[in-house]
Amino acid sequence: MSKERLYIFDTTLRDGEQTQGVDFSIDDKEKIALALDTLGVDYIEGGWPGANPTDTEFFQKKLKFKNSKLTAFGMTKRTGRSADNDPGISALLDSNASSICLVGKSWDFHVDVALGITNDENLENISESAKHFIKEKKEFMFDAEHFFDGYKNNPKYALSCLKAAYAQGARWIVLCDTNGGTLPHEVSKIVSEVSKQIPGKNLGIHAHNDTGNAVANTLAAILAGVRQVQGTINGLGERCGNANLMSLIPTFFLKKDFSNKFETNINPRDIKNLTQCSRLLDEILNRKPNQHLPYVGAAAFSHKGGLHVSAVQKDPKTYEHINPEEVGNTRNIVVSDQAGKSNIISRLKTIGVNIKENDPKIKKLLEEVKDREFIGYSYDGADASFELLARRIVGEIPRYISISEYDVSVKKNATGKIISTAKAQLEVDGEKIVCEGEGNGPVNALDNAIRNNIDRLAKYSKYLKDLKLVDYKVRILNTGTEAVTRVSIESTDAKGKNWFTIGVSTNIIDASFKALVDSLDYKLFKDNAPASS
Ligand SMILES: [Zn+2]
Repeated sequence: MSKERLYIFDTTLRDGEQTQGVDFSIDDKEKIALALDTLGVDYIEGGWPGANPTDTEFFQKKLKFKNSKLTAFGMTKRTGRSADNDPGISALLDSNASSICLVGKSWDFHVDVALGITNDENLENISESAKHFIKEKKEFMFDAEHFFDGYKNNPKYALSCLKAAYAQGARWIVLCDTNGGTLPHEVSKIVSEVSKQIPGKNLGIHAHNDTGNAVANTLAAILAGVRQVQGTINGLGERCGNANLMSLIPTFFLKKDFSNKFETNINPRDIKNLTQCSRLLDEILNRKPNQHLPYVGAAAFSHKGGLHVSAVQKDPKTYEHINPEEVGNTRNIVVSDQAGKSNIISRLKTIGVNIKENDPKIKKLLEEVKDREFIGYSYDGADASFELLARRIVGEIPRYISISEYDVSVKKNATGKIISTAKAQLEVDGEKIVCEGEGNGPVNALDNAIRNNIDRLAKYSKYLKDLKLVDYKVRILNTGTEAVTRVSIESTDAKGKNWFTIGVSTNIIDASFKALVDSLDYKLFKDNAPASS
């Protein structure tokens, strides 16, 4: 039985960019577009040429794609002008995009309140715009803004807006849930009704996530007939976001009600790149990835409880809905107070420590983890610190840089600026090195003290040059008798792999220092740096 084709339309660079705090450079846009093309999406909406200089310039780059069509976004022509004479429309033609997606109103309330024109004028704007682009041999899509709200309010008028574009030869009519308030059962019902008038093979869905149902609404729309799916990487989008393609794409491949019926332009083996694609966007946005994203989040296949872990080890299907490797993700066995011996053994296997199950060192490590958790350590999110602890007990971590003393001070100067200075005494191969640095906080100052003196760290310089602190988090814990501080540090390097370390102390600077030293040690260990003599 031949499968039906689903078309994937990514709007990260256009609708995703509407998000508060998101402002892509041309270079960012190019990186994201190339990742999407490599993945194999059908359409990449690059932006709104003519509306802002970055988008205009992005289209002028004329990027060559292997799989995707670059799509330009714009608005239907203005009332009282011909399409030939509308500068917005001309800018889209000048963009050289092969497909055009024009947004227009389909809710009579908006036609009246937002545009202040008559319903007939709006219909004319839609049909004249469609006619113009089709005459110019562009693949044309009509984004029916607020379609679901419009349909609920005045179904006849909402449908006439769609037909105004479809009658001119629009390839796609995209049904938008712009305010994101529609629920899956309503989407099913409305799409079924619409598809009696316009064939499903010409319909698309654009869902916003304001009720947490953007993905569910998209799936409901597909089952009711639509064949184009719009969304963004990680669900990036204003308010609560757009439909998340990183959830939808694996669903099309890995859930049989979809995989038996549909195919896409994406090569099945390329869905392994989804996790990487998701992380790339976070990296560009300089955001900490959301660990709890379905399929691609770091916690999506994390197991903590002892019983869960021993079951997962017998057969991962016991607590996993798919194999994480199918989407390029990994299983993560979390070590915690609840964990038994099976957790520790499994965690050791994951990091590649080969040790016999009855080795007394396992018991020692378990006790050490429990003791540390008692005083406030938590290795759930601190993989690198756990690995160092485990390997130290097994005897695999050499001594690298010793830090014998440090001194940190915080000062507010006459202009009100707060400056931290740090001084640390390091030792490499028996030689003492005094490092000094300044920063906007004590950890930053300590980090800078080491970083400013990297060239003096002899054989370790080359290993630490690309080390970067990405995130720093402090939590004050009450352990009963006294308050202790837990500091977590996220680090990265030129290879792009992030690691997490932790430090606990009654003193915030000491806790920070411990987490920082673990970060340095971990970097030296994973890069196979030699021991200090
Ligand atoms: Zn939108």
